Amino acid sequence: AELPADPELTNEIRQVKNTLFSYVNPTKPSNPKLIHASEEVAALVGISKDEIQSEEFLNVFSGKEILDQTQPYAMCYAGHQFGNWAGQLGDGRAINLTEVENNKQRFTLQLKGAGKTPYSRTADGLAVLRSSIREYLCAEAMHYLGVPTTRSLSLILSGDQVLRDILYNGNPAYEKGAVVCRVAPSFIRFGSFEMLAARNELKNLKQFVEYNIKHYFPEITGEPKEQYLQFFQKIADSTREMILHWQRVGFVHGVMNTDNMSVHGITIDYGPYGWLENYDPNWTPNTTDSQNRRYRFGNQPQVAHWNLYQLANAIYPLINETEQLEKILESFMDNFISDYKIMFLSKLGIFTSTETDNDLIDNLEAVLQLAETDMTIFFRNLSTVKKSDSADEAVKKIEFAFYKIEEFSGEILEAWKKWFTVYLERLSVEELSDEERSEKMNAINPKYVLRNYMAQLAIDAADKDDYSLINEFYTLLQKPYDEQPEYEKWFAKRPDWARSKVGCSM
Ligand code: AMP
Ligand code: MG
Ligand code: MG
Repeated sequence: AELPADPELTNEIRQVKNTLFSYVNPTKPSNPKLIHASEEVAALVGISKDEIQSEEFLNVFSGKEILDQTQPYAMCYAGHQFGNWAGQLGDGRAINLTEVENNKQRFTLQLKGAGKTPYSRTADGLAVLRSSIREYLCAEAMHYLGVPTTRSLSLILSGDQVLRDILYNGNPAYEKGAVVCRVAPSFIRFGSFEMLAARNELKNLKQFVEYNIKHYFPEITGEPKEQYLQFFQKIADSTREMILHWQRVGFVHGVMNTDNMSVHGITIDYGPYGWLENYDPNWTPNTTDSQNRRYRFGNQPQVAHWNLYQLANAIYPLINETEQLEKILESFMDNFISDYKIMFLSKLGIFTSTETDNDLIDNLEAVLQLAETDMTIFFRNLSTVKKSDSADEAVKKIEFAFYKIEEFSGEILEAWKKWFTVYLERLSVEELSDEERSEKMNAINPKYVLRNYMAQLAIDAADKDDYSLINEFYTLLQKPYDEQPEYEKWFAKRPDWARSKVGCSM
């Protein structure tokens, strides 16, 4: 028999109509402790270096204290998860504290892991230190790589224990809880529009689209229908650029559900993300997706297109004709393909593209997969190749990218030499000198990314109250394109123990 309705529990699974948010206060943490804060992000939102060290900062960004004249809220949104309509979702463990305006820019400050909201459903609204470190560091690393993303303001221990797993012996496995404050122009998602469309609240849908245009796309003008189309075009453009960056640096999001797609084309929601180590377009960090691999590296452009299709469906009732929307969707893919070529060639140090370059790209993608070859190391070391090198000399320079050096022989080595022969021929007609090319390539191909095992090492140390690696990685990843001799040890392949380790979500 069912238990009598618990008012709190009923609240958790509330279906909300005619609104896209609910007021909710963060749960007070029992003993907050600041682990890290970004001085740059603080300055961006108008908080000084000294203020970061204040009790007020700790209290506000851990959810212990609510600033005067602010009214925190959780947002309601829906979404397609793994290709299926999932209905209402909403911020189950995110709470927007407030919006601030600084230097004419608007920011929303959002806590993640600060307790239950009306959208938590059956979950606890909390975040463990492990996933919070991963989100905190990765968002900042992405920013410094030049990838559009939410920013991280602070990482704070809550002092509370969070239950994530029951061990095989039946004992509960508690982990340290944490709260991250993340910052973005807004946290509005494709799923926000899908929610209103699904409820058939067309007046609200119109008002919401117009709100977005007014506040975030003020440059859009014209007749209403024309405006809505421009709005969609801009989201398609910024999404395309974001995905191009992901493919450039080897980032795999892992959960590209429509509720995790930002209207600003910024990377949001760092769950089970991961970085390509050996170049493998089929790789996904998401263990729950290991069958279909919908969110694998090589499928990210197609998924973005699919997600934009869902957004187009959601705003369709405001436009009432498909032709223009379809045109924008079609051009998304066409533009992606031509931009991808330019981007990929630039990674190779080729800045003028020709027809035959398609083969150069396709053949490289194929040889990269013959044996496990580290993507980051390969592209970084490629910049040391000189026009005057022989194929034998050139191939030696990327040897370090191979996971198993014994595989760097026989047919595989021959295939590499063949590719390099064509590549060197192609370089010989480029006008840039070796130095110029190398410099340009090194500004595109990062030396340092937040490798999956690095995040794991930072987590393992933090579990033992040692936060030094978080500090070290934060500093290192602020200059991902620079040579940093003191950190050379992080320009390294994934160690063997980390081989099967993938990103973790909760
Ligand atoms: P995600 O896959 O992380 O984008 O999350 C999907 C949905 O589950 C969102 O509505 C989240 O807010 C919600 N969610 C994830 N983790 C939790 C949690 N620990 N407590 C409450 N809601 C959660
Ligand atoms: Mg999410
Ligand atoms: Mg998540």
